[in-house]
Amino acid sequence: MPRDPRYDILFEPIRIGPVTAPNRFYQAPHCNGMGRLFPDSMIAMRGMKAEGGWGIVATEQCDFHPTGDVQPFTETRLWGDMDVPYLAGMVNEVHKHGSLAAIELVHNGHDTGNIYSREVPIGPMHRPVTWLDHPVQARAMDLTDIRAYRRWHRNAALRARKAGFDIVVVYAGHDGTMPSHFLSRRHNQRGDEYGGSLENRLRLYRELLEDTLDAVGDTMGVVARFAVDEMMGPDGLEWENEGRDAIEMMAEMPDMWDVNVADWSNDSKTSRFAPEGYQEDYIAFVKQVSSKPVATVGRYTSPDTMVSAIKRGLVDMICAARPSIADPFLPKKIEEGRVDDIRECIGCNICAAWNNISAPIRCTQNPTMGEEWRKGWHPEQIKAKGSDSHVLVVGAGPAGLEAAHQLGKRGYRVTLAEAGTQAGGRVSRESALPNLNAWARVRDYRLGQIAPMVNVDLYLNSELSAQDVLEFGADHVALATGSTWRRDGVGRHVRAPIPGAEFPRALSPDDIMDGKRPKMGPVVVFDDDHYYMGSMMADLLAGEGYQVTLVTPGLCVSSWTEHTLEQEHIEKRLVGLGVEILPRHSVVALGAGDVELVNLVTGEKLKRPGDLVPVTMRLPNDVLYSPLMEDPARLQDAGIKSVRRIGDCYGPATIAAAVYEGHRYARELDTKVDPDGVPFKTVKYDLELGG
Ligand code: ADP
Ligand code: SF4
Repeated sequence: MPRDPRYDILFEPIRIGPVTAPNRFYQAPHCNGMGRLFPDSMIAMRGMKAEGGWGIVATEQCDFHPTGDVQPFTETRLWGDMDVPYLAGMVNEVHKHGSLAAIELVHNGHDTGNIYSREVPIGPMHRPVTWLDHPVQARAMDLTDIRAYRRWHRNAALRARKAGFDIVVVYAGHDGTMPSHFLSRRHNQRGDEYGGSLENRLRLYRELLEDTLDAVGDTMGVVARFAVDEMMGPDGLEWENEGRDAIEMMAEMPDMWDVNVADWSNDSKTSRFAPEGYQEDYIAFVKQVSSKPVATVGRYTSPDTMVSAIKRGLVDMICAARPSIADPFLPKKIEEGRVDDIRECIGCNICAAWNNISAPIRCTQNPTMGEEWRKGWHPEQIKAKGSDSHVLVVGAGPAGLEAAHQLGKRGYRVTLAEAGTQAGGRVSRESALPNLNAWARVRDYRLGQIAPMVNVDLYLNSELSAQDVLEFGADHVALATGSTWRRDGVGRHVRAPIPGAEFPRALSPDDIMDGKRPKMGPVVVFDDDHYYMGSMMADLLAGEGYQVTLVTPGLCVSSWTEHTLEQEHIEKRLVGLGVEILPRHSVVALGAGDVELVNLVTGEKLKRPGDLVPVTMRLPNDVLYSPLMEDPARLQDAGIKSVRRIGDCYGPATIAAAVYEGHRYARELDTKVDPDGVPFKTVKYDLELGG
């Protein structure tokens, strides 16, 4: 289909100093947990973005000196000439598709522990490092240090040119970079020309821009990535005050402005806490004070919103990290008039979480993310079917929907049977929780893809028994029947059922999502899951007027959401809703009218009145599996060649894991998989010793 002319503007070339981006799609620097340690995976992933039409494809932050060592994060690095070849590999993959390659140079200042390099951290002042409360201090840089720092940055820019990059991003953002530390009144109380007035605090950043323009500006675009607001009121940078003044003072210096808010948890807010385009109010002034192109992020997934942001004079380029992860082919799909095929980001930050635990990236919506090289998975292509088999997929949650979608794409005849009145499984239920409506995109994208497939049939209201499956006549059966939350409190901390924790006094998250409610006024939510569901139960019930106490053995509420950048936002919201939070506590028993608790530090026993909502763990809904597998002869008579459990039915986990398992099932059907082998390619080591 031809492109809708409304979107033509998105495909106009944009000049960035001496280089020209072929369109307005800028894949923002984003971490991926692969970087220098898994370079093949990183290169293939970036190349896929270029193939998908992103006019500029950037690295994640790339540290350029051992005093700013980003370990344990597996990001890119450019410490010397030895680092040029693998970065050149990324540039080549990006250039193959006519896109520009950008590199974001970073020094994390006092926000790093230098745990690999063992160098003493440096920053504007003598201060303890802020990264993980690591027990070392950053040393205040003197003027010699500053001169050296500028030299390192300049050398890195020159090496970036050697690697073939087209654009250097000079980075002052997220409260995690040296220039932003110098700029901040909080961090910088120096008495020399680099401290005091805004002009002085901005001096280092201006010098970096000048140095970079001088070193490579004749052939490379120089982009200023700059946070204009720290979202902490007068304690930090505010766009109405110093944020705006700073941009005005440097307005025409860079070849492009890439502006955002800080810190990272504000810049990459989840959909639970911010809608698409949420940064617009903060950055709207930039185009009024600079004639240079402006870009910003904001989880833009809709081409209409993108066009609107450009036409309203807010931005020239659409900068996107997460939308490019969820759909590397987003620009191509707009260009080819296939807007309905866009796999929209749901704003869950699973991608960020995997970077934050130093593991290769994954994405809830895009199961091929991070698997481009090691599994050879292409987000848009899958090989044709290996037989004329008919596949029965039982359960239309994320796992079943993804399996059916990909099997359908391969050309298999697929029947998808769903017990419920609607498809989507847990995402349909969970997207009805407060502010999680964007999660329904996991279902809607797949239903949209399946709808036109004549070889895929979806049957709702079709709960199958083992006998039904045997009688159905399929060649292969995938059980994607999900999981159920326990009511008895068993989980990580509590290893045996909590006495008295029975329905109706104990209600699981499934009960609550089914509309059941505690009988008594007050309620205790026991969160031993530590991800979002405990806080969701508290959020929902407090919002409905229940008096809620959230009890968790963790050090804080929803401790794992530290990785999804949500923890502080969640805590603030629950406190705002009046939820009492008791960290380092557990549940001992459910009494006649109350819940008995224990302080895990002191052993002190205490009580709270009310009913209990335990959020601890789920059990697989795999009741069909054993009866099907117990008699191989019966299976054979039924013509069934394989039965597999996928998604939560096999191992309850994240939605991302269920989608991945559904995808993997579809990829592997009728292929040879070595049960004893490693199911992906691994990095080849280039050793100096022992070879
Ligand atoms: P996953 O995350 O693994 O996809 P979900 O719990 O989201 O799992 O989805 C499982 C789906 O399977 C639910 O929609 C549920 O209604 C459906 N289901 C469970 N048992 C059966 C069954 N026996 N027949 C058909 N559908 C079933
Ligand atoms: Fe979006 Fe979630 Fe995928 Fe990240 S993991 S790109 S937030 S859908």
